[in-house]
Amino acid sequence: MANPGSNFQHSSSSLDNLRLISYCPLCNAHYSPTEAKILEQKDGAHLIHVECGNCRSSIVAVVITGSIGISSVGLITDLTSQDVMRFKNSESLSEDDVIEAYQTLTVDSDLSALLKE
Ligand SMILES: [Zn+2]
Repeated sequence: MANPGSNFQHSSSSLDNLRLISYCPLCNAHYSPTEAKILEQKDGAHLIHVECGNCRSSIVAVVITGSIGISSVGLITDLTSQDVMRFKNSESLSEDDVIEAYQTLTVDSDLSALLKE
């Protein structure tokens, strides 16, 4: 008989994966389901944003349900769910962007005029 415990281990690691989106990593409060927003779902992958009702910190996580079970990757963020949607499809920054931002702030330092645009 092939490893009778494998199913149990499998489901327990799935639970570990879900723990990320069940408890706040900072204050350990239990998230209520209404605090989780599914921002996007595609091919069994879910992009989820959860704001902790207790300490107001947020996580974004990608939860993937596939034939091997549920896995998730998440990180603590200061982005709101609107920010996540805004940056999700934007291009990553290049060195040129950083140099341009630096030059804007130092050489051409009329920042208040820029912010009014
Ligand atoms: Zn919290």
